[in-house]
Order: sequence, then C-alpha cells, then structure tokens
Amino acid sequence: MALADPGPSGRFGDFGGRFVPETLVPACQDLEKAFRAAWGDPEFHSELDRLLHDYAGRPSPLSDCDRLSEELGVRVLLKREDLNHTGSHKINNVLGQALLARRMGKKRLVAETGAGQHGVASATAAALMGMECVVYMGEVDIARQALNVFRMQLLGAEVRPAMSGSRTLKDAINEAMRDWVATVETTHYCLGSVMGPHPYPWMVREFHSVIGTEARAQCDERLGGPPDIVTACVGGGSNAIGIFSGFVDTDADLVGVEPAGGAAVGRGVPGVVHGSKSFLLQDEWGQVSEATSISAGLDYPGVGPEHSHLATIGRARYESVTDAEVVEAFSLLSRTEGIIPALEPAHALAWVSRDRAELAGKTVLINMSGRGDKDVAEMMEILG
Ligand SMILES: *Cc1c(COP(=O)(O)O)cnc(C)c1O
Repeated sequence: MALADPGPSGRFGDFGGRFVPETLVPACQDLEKAFRAAWGDPEFHSELDRLLHDYAGRPSPLSDCDRLSEELGVRVLLKREDLNHTGSHKINNVLGQALLARRMGKKRLVAETGAGQHGVASATAAALMGMECVVYMGEVDIARQALNVFRMQLLGAEVRPAMSGSRTLKDAINEAMRDWVATVETTHYCLGSVMGPHPYPWMVREFHSVIGTEARAQCDERLGGPPDIVTACVGGGSNAIGIFSGFVDTDADLVGVEPAGGAAVGRGVPGVVHGSKSFLLQDEWGQVSEATSISAGLDYPGVGPEHSHLATIGRARYESVTDAEVVEAFSLLSRTEGIIPALEPAHALAWVSRDRAELAGKTVLINMSGRGDKDVAEMMEILG
C-alpha cells in the first residue's frame, strides 16, 4: 500500500477537503486538473528530476551517525535534506510548484512564510524561472526575521506585511489566499506545506515523496531493508509525509514529532482552517489558538489533514517534545556528528534521545529536514 490519491473530494478518511470561498473553487479545480496532467506526464517528471539533480543537489545522502548511535544505544541514520540548495526540504516542493505554474502559463508566484524559509525557497524558484514573486509575511515575523526578508529581496521578491490578527503565519496565509483570489488569471499560490484546500495536501506530498523514495532505496542498500522506525518533525507535516511515503508499505513504525506548544495531533480537535479539515489547536470557544515553539518553522496551530488520518487509523503516531529537550538535541548532534541541525528536525532527535531506553538496539531513520545556520544566533543567546 502506498499513500492513497485522495480523489476529487480531496479526503483522507474524515480529513482534508476543500473548504474555500466560492471564488476560489475554480482556481483549486484548475490547479488539480493541471497537477494531475503534469504528474502523469513523463516530460514534466524529467524536467523536475533534472532541476532536483542539477540545481537542488539531489539525491541527498543517508548518513550513519556512529558517535551519536554509540552515545544513545540506538542506531541513528539521517536523511540529509539539510544539504539541499537553500538548506532544507522546502526546495523539492517549490521547484515542483514553480514548474507547474509555468506549465499553466502563470507568470507570478505568491507565497506565505512564517520564519522565512518557504519564502526564501519560493523567491529562489521564481528567480530561477524568471517569475515575479510576492511573499506575504506577518508584520511580527518580518521584524523577527530581518535576514530572511533581505534574502528574499536579494532574490528579487517583494515581501508584503500581513497586518491582521496576530500578524504571524496564519495571517500571512489568509493574505496570500486573498491575493490569489484577485489575481488567479496570472498567479499561482505556492503553498508551503501539506495543508490548505485540495489539491495542496496531496500535491505537496507528491513533490516531497522523492525524500521517501530515495531513503527507501538507500536503506535497502545500507541495511538490507527498512529501519525499525522512521521519524520526522511535524509543523504542517510536509517533510514528515515525504519520508513516510517511502515506508508506509513496510513494517517500520512512523513517528511524527510535534513541539509541545504546537501539538495539533496530540492535543488538537477536528476543525477547519485554511481550507481543510484536520486536528487543530482551539480554545474552548472554537477560536484557533496560537502555537508556541522555539522553532518558528513548527509554530503552526494546525497540521496537514493526512497526518490526522494516519493518526486516526493508527498507521503513524505522534509524540511531542519540549523546547528544553530540543535545545539539548541541537547541541548533541552538533557535538557528536559535526552536523548543526535546524531546530525543527532537532525535535525528532530530541524524541529519540529522550526515549532511548525504549528504543535501545533499534535502527531509527530521522529526516534531517534542514540545517541550523538560521538558528545559530538564537541558540547563541540561549547557550552562549
Ligand atoms: C518549514 C520547515 C519545517 C516544517 O514544515 P513541515 O511542512 O512540517 O515539514 C521543518 N523543518 C524545516 C527545516 C523547515 O524549514
């Protein structure tokens, strides 16, 4: 069993769907149609594969962590998405969407960003393909992430502040959707995770399935089969679903790791936000709560609908870790392996490290979704 095509309704069990204003329905339908055609077209795949190889640097390696494994008593392997161009898995998705946009005749990309990582990746793809790019970013995040704002500008993108609500990621998504409604003839909305209305959760998953496909073949070669456990951090859930997709049909346990302050699967209840139904952090009146996490990339109150489905049917499970555990894992990997991780994938390692007694003797594959350069200044204040 591979992960299923959710069909025209975009449902993963009880979750997913397309909860959008009337004006956006045709845009979502056109996008779905274009994606289905592209994804079935060998020419699209060969163009995308070429970019992933020549531009993004794929395939990403699988690294055995000898010193870390010895320290934990667990054999740890890392899928090195941190070595991709722009420093994370996000490039897989934006290259796919930018190619698709070009195929649809769109000349302009809009994107949302929280910490700036997806905005930088989108601006990168737009520069590569000679497209106009507008990135919506909460006013609060713009102030916190000046370096990434400048990066996007260097890459030729315009960064527009989202001034409503809490002026963070969820408000930037609302603004990007509003822009898309008004400009749909010329514009593609390049959404950054496996969330939003159908076809995004499915399409973004397919663009990240390259992670799982590569990792599966690498594990077959290195280990003679799948590892005992495959784990990844979960914000919206795109890097996790990308690596899970290569192992759903095996006996491997699939474990998503959420921040304790943003555990949508762990502590959320079903609700609708940004176009789809999924587990969601809400207050007692059904208002969306703010997530809080040391890593801006996981600071999202929702989660992709397919994760809610995988949790409900018991095919994946979801753990959560505290900021303090993440800080410890960040140092641990740096010290033992010479790899400074982004704070997001440090969540997955934090879980392995905390639960190492239970995992003793097992083989664990961690998706190293990004590198830590962006987080070094913040860590210097905490650890320095
Ligand atoms: C954006 C980001 C994440 C969170 O997004 P997902 O969709 O949950 O993968 C995780 N890791 C890194 C390095 C990121 O930049």
